[in-house]
Amino acid sequence: MARQTWDAIVVGSGISGGWAAKELTERGLRVLLLEAGRPIDPERDYLEHEPVYEFRFRGLGDRRRDRERQMIQSIAGPFEEQTAHFFVDDIDNPYTFDADKPFYWIRGRHLGGRSLMWGRQTYRMSDLDFEANAREGVGVDWPIRYADIAPWYDYVEDYIGVSGEALGLPQLPDGKFLPPMALNCAEEVVKQGMARHFGGERVLTIGRCAILTQAHRGRAACHYCGPCWRGCITHSYFNSLGVTLPAAQATGRLTVRTNSIVAAVTYDERRDRATGVRVIDAITRHETEYQAGLIFLCASALESTRILLNSRTTRFPNGLANSSGELGRNLMDHTMGGGARATIPGNEDRIVHGNRPNGIYVPRFRNVKTSHPDFVRGYGFQGGAGRDGWGRGASSAGIGAEFKHGLREPGPWRFTFYGFGECLPYATNTVTLDAVKTDAWGIPALHVSATYGDNERAQLQDMAVTAAEMLEAAGVRDIETFVEENAIGLAIHEMGTARMGRDPRTSVLNAYNQTHDVPNVFVTDGACMTSSGCQNPSIMYMALTARAAEYAVDKLQRREL
Ligand SMILES: Cc1cc2nc3c(=O)[nH]c(=O)nc-3n(C[C@H](O)[C@H](O)[C@H](O)COP(=O)(O)OP(=O)(O)OC[C@H]3O[C@@H](n4cnc5c(N)ncnc54)[C@H](O)[C@@H]3O)c2cc1C
Ligand code: SF4
Repeated sequence: MARQTWDAIVVGSGISGGWAAKELTERGLRVLLLEAGRPIDPERDYLEHEPVYEFRFRGLGDRRRDRERQMIQSIAGPFEEQTAHFFVDDIDNPYTFDADKPFYWIRGRHLGGRSLMWGRQTYRMSDLDFEANAREGVGVDWPIRYADIAPWYDYVEDYIGVSGEALGLPQLPDGKFLPPMALNCAEEVVKQGMARHFGGERVLTIGRCAILTQAHRGRAACHYCGPCWRGCITHSYFNSLGVTLPAAQATGRLTVRTNSIVAAVTYDERRDRATGVRVIDAITRHETEYQAGLIFLCASALESTRILLNSRTTRFPNGLANSSGELGRNLMDHTMGGGARATIPGNEDRIVHGNRPNGIYVPRFRNVKTSHPDFVRGYGFQGGAGRDGWGRGASSAGIGAEFKHGLREPGPWRFTFYGFGECLPYATNTVTLDAVKTDAWGIPALHVSATYGDNERAQLQDMAVTAAEMLEAAGVRDIETFVEENAIGLAIHEMGTARMGRDPRTSVLNAYNQTHDVPNVFVTDGACMTSSGCQNPSIMYMALTARAAEYAVDKLQRREL
């Protein structure tokens, strides 16, 4: 086994790992970034401008191969022929789940992680979220409040560029925004109807998203080509490959090793400190040990927990830093899929130009000022409006030239509200190491046992009711409600399993994402979440990572780690 030494090791190069690498190198540390997946070459791998006829299966994908190798990943919305290479191979990267509790784990294993395919929706949590657990006696209390994280939200937003509209709502704090994208005319109709009917209680705004509406820090403004999940050659949306990793590289203190799978954190029982990580080369399968005084786990919520569970020592027989027994518990994922759709009459002489890579947002309004009798917490709506295209021909009756010519004209305006809700932290929603199954490199796979509870189901039902109310208020027609039955995991906001908390007996991490048990190990991805809020979470991971990095470097300099 070869051995090499660094100031800090960052595991994972996605949304959190990119920020850890940037902050630690900019603060003077020599950092080794270990990424399990392959390198990405934007010239070759970003396909947002490739027309569909350039693809062997015309964008429909190799369905036999997808069924055999990516049967879980291919369920995800942005999975397609143009993006299959951004999603893991499910055979090489298996996990198991209880037969009656399906869990869909959507992952990327490559440089940049899921920051390449994410939806870029970016919303702050508020004290309504941070105080909820303590107020309701659910889980444990967050060890931080909004005031602790607000400057770090500012710092991150200012760096990555987030476009959006300030609303002055306490439940969805405003940020440092670039100019918002525009609503289209049908969205304006719904917005105005809601304003007339609900006053300021239910508000429709353009999505807040990590996409540049003007040039920012050397990156070009978005040119509205549309399919961001295939990559962005102009770096107009935030991903770690185009933004944080180049910043870290620019310090001259970053070393990146791809195809390097971290199997475990190594630990010195005598010094009570982590000493480094054990790595398996994804291609040669050779094992290496890298050493460092500081470890940042940013491998994504469940992968970081898997690494800790697999790092068993005499002191920690159930996983490193797991004296609380909470490692692997309290898995959450947002609910999604309650809502309504409708036709918006009028504006038939208007059409959109370009493909705006963003939708609308309705901030949470349930359990903000008054309590709902059926559930706690709340949800927000995403969605938006567009005109039906020629594809409507597949579902309409017609034949012949006249029918075909008719399809050249855009159809009516359609609008959809699609809800995303908060999931409570249930101790019974767990991940553990599977007793039998291993991945292609012999590392124990995860077993997931998780499901939504009554609170989540009640929220989904309510989403359909309130979405229809808002559409009715706008005076539209053909309102159709829906409540989808999406399995947990499919919102792709999996989080928890190494929660932050005040008490080492009931939580894994302290207020700075440092493990209570092993001071030089930090976990700054979604594993740390104490509750889920209903907001898309990744900006929270970025802010917490930057904050934890400052704290860790300060502690290192004082020789307190
Ligand atoms: C289609 C889609 C849409 C989404 N939309 C949004 C959205 O609009 N807003 C939002 O906030 N979030 C969204 N998300 C979720 C968001 O992508 C994740 O929350 C975010 O990427 C998590 O960041 P991370 O750094 O923890 O993990 P990732 O970005 O997944 O990165 C983890 C990295 O760690 C690497 N890794 C894993 N295990 C190991 C190991 N053992 N050793 C070394 N490296 C390892 C992986 O290969 C990967 O590169 C979306 C996700 C998807 C897929
Ligand atoms: S729509 Fe904008 S952000 Fe998305 S890929 Fe195109 S240029 Fe990039």
